[in-house]
Amino acid sequence: MPIYHQVALNIPLFKLMTYRHDEVLAIGTRVVVPFRGKPKVAFIWENQVEPDIDESKILPITTVFDNEPCVNQDWIELLEFTARYYHYPLGASVFTAIPTGMRKPKPLSYPVVDKTFQLNETGLSQKSPPEHHRKLFALWQALIAGIKLTAAKNIHERATCYLTKWQEMGWLNEVSNQNINPKEGAVKLNQQQFDAYQAICDSLNTFKTFLLFGITGSGKTETYFEVMAEVFSQGKSVLFLLPEINLTEQLLSRFAKRFPDISCAILHSRSSDGERTQDYLAALCGQVQLVIGTRLAVFTPIKNLGLIVVDEEHDSSFKQDNELRYNARDLSIWRAKQAQCPVILGSATPSLESFYAAQNKRYQLLSITRRAKENARLPEILIDNVRHQKLTEGLSERTIKLLQQNLENGGLSLVYLNRRGFAPALFCGDCGYSFTCPNCSAKMVLHRSVRHLRCHHCDHQIAIPSFCPDCGNTDLSAVGFGTQRIEDALKKIFPNAKIARVDRDSLSHKNDWQEICNKINSCQLDIIVGTQILAKGHDFKQLNLVTVLNADGSLYSADLRAREKLFAELMQVAGRAGRDKSAGKVLIQTQLPDNPIFHDLQRQDYISFAQNELDSRRAFKAPPCTYVAACRADAPQLDDAMQFLRDTITQITLPENVYIYGPAPQLMVRLSGRERAQIFIESTQRTLLHNTVNDIAQVMEQLAKKRHKIHHAIDIDPIEC
Ligand SMILES: [Zn+2]
Ligand SMILES: [Zn+2]
Repeated sequence: MPIYHQVALNIPLFKLMTYRHDEVLAIGTRVVVPFRGKPKVAFIWENQVEPDIDESKILPITTVFDNEPCVNQDWIELLEFTARYYHYPLGASVFTAIPTGMRKPKPLSYPVVDKTFQLNETGLSQKSPPEHHRKLFALWQALIAGIKLTAAKNIHERATCYLTKWQEMGWLNEVSNQNINPKEGAVKLNQQQFDAYQAICDSLNTFKTFLLFGITGSGKTETYFEVMAEVFSQGKSVLFLLPEINLTEQLLSRFAKRFPDISCAILHSRSSDGERTQDYLAALCGQVQLVIGTRLAVFTPIKNLGLIVVDEEHDSSFKQDNELRYNARDLSIWRAKQAQCPVILGSATPSLESFYAAQNKRYQLLSITRRAKENARLPEILIDNVRHQKLTEGLSERTIKLLQQNLENGGLSLVYLNRRGFAPALFCGDCGYSFTCPNCSAKMVLHRSVRHLRCHHCDHQIAIPSFCPDCGNTDLSAVGFGTQRIEDALKKIFPNAKIARVDRDSLSHKNDWQEICNKINSCQLDIIVGTQILAKGHDFKQLNLVTVLNADGSLYSADLRAREKLFAELMQVAGRAGRDKSAGKVLIQTQLPDNPIFHDLQRQDYISFAQNELDSRRAFKAPPCTYVAACRADAPQLDDAMQFLRDTITQITLPENVYIYGPAPQLMVRLSGRERAQIFIESTQRTLLHNTVNDIAQVMEQLAKKRHKIHHAIDIDPIEC
């Protein structure tokens, strides 16, 4: 008698598929099944089911990887919730959540060897291997940083063989994971940090969400660390999530220093497939106690989960904005509830969602309002009204003067603007023609050094045109300022200053970042021109002046979260100044000095900002005071996308307290050659909202079968409204 199993397959269908096997397979087993004539990986989701189709049509499971560990029940529940909540096919969700290595119909290299090594005295005195042996060099760097490597973490056989070789040379010691005391190496917390720590520790082993609101430099990380030490000492594990951009060497070495004996997996987009798979398996088998990673790490199966930390919880990178549109912060709260453990959301500028929840007592608010270092003072924030001023290449008189003074005093300055390239647009002075991307509703950005116009959305590039295609005028002018243009201007104004630019273009090589850090730390620079890339998660002690050039752009934006994002961004940039003894200075150039946001910024008063912002969201019935879902459609022509959504709405009967807005074109209508429209569904009751979205999803699914040019998607709790 064949036994029928339902499996999760990576297909865009909202159902599981049935296959047969002659034995009962455990739930969570990885298998291979034929699908449309091709072997595909699948996971057993239910066993011993009644077949839902003609039994003769049910195909057999071809391969069973029964020596691999099964994904566990908690993980299965997490994925079922994720698929249901975000209205995405279950099978496709499962395959988003697992590393690429497990998606291939091949056995995994398994079991892993669990041997852990650390450099000893002799090892530390050896010369580093040459840098061009990239893997070898990286391995050595990790060891030097004090990270203990398990052979399990090095799927590359070559790396493992180096570890063995170095051990034979007597450079490495094998460390045992027995008898470790994670509380060793604790730092002394100040009173506020300690109160926060105590509140969380009082709730270990129960589900509770904490919002840790701590100003920049207040020592949130140390507070996390001491709670983590408590959790480790109970033999439990920790999941630590943070935005990609914050996952720096600086932070990792802090982890390694504080928890030298905790086995750890680091999951982020730069990990290779092999590393990801191996780390994932190690976590699945309970071989790691700490998982650090970016948004995708929220799906790591973890044994004995005792705490989740989401650092910089306000960061929009926790939300994936394509395919499975999940929010790792929100899912981590669900996971904490499942595991009955606390979750800490930490930020200096919490998201309004979290702030609102704390006001409503759904989360417990813990505040750290003082900087951790005794002498460290908050920077002074000055607003520079540039409305009637003539600027010199985008720089105000006051900006130039402060830079000059700081230069004379030997300080380090940051000129901040969040726009890379030379100029954001190229215009014809005669007829007003501007160069827009043929695929997107966006201007092409001028990159003068590489002689290109580039679209920052789809990366379309053309050579800089020498005349206007409309009127033939050859006098084209660059409008606005990007980092490159400001760098050029500063070099002219301060010919003797040592100036460097830090943005995505200047950091294209792997070692560029390290080089710039070395230069900064060894005081070889006077002025840095930089974008957000520099604003996050890096501490430069010497930095004592920050000038902000283009703060106003987002205040004109129609984006609901523009002000929230700008406040967070500017607080973060301001927080870079004066992290050491001397108080830093921040000067913000603006044409809108009366905007309340600058008032709150100047006083560095997040609470006041958040209260005001929340009032206006309440007035507009906008999130977080209500729940929202976006249903989107895109097509080569906007009309088709709009019509598709109109037709969808006509088939929906709306219950009371649910509202539909739209359809309307998206803020950025055209992207990569497709035109986009959306409707918003809004309600103060989540269940009602989800029921309606379910109906809409079904209607869209049906309609889309007849209209092939249309793509459609659902975005629950969208970031862009
Ligand atoms: Zn022209
Ligand atoms: Zn484009």
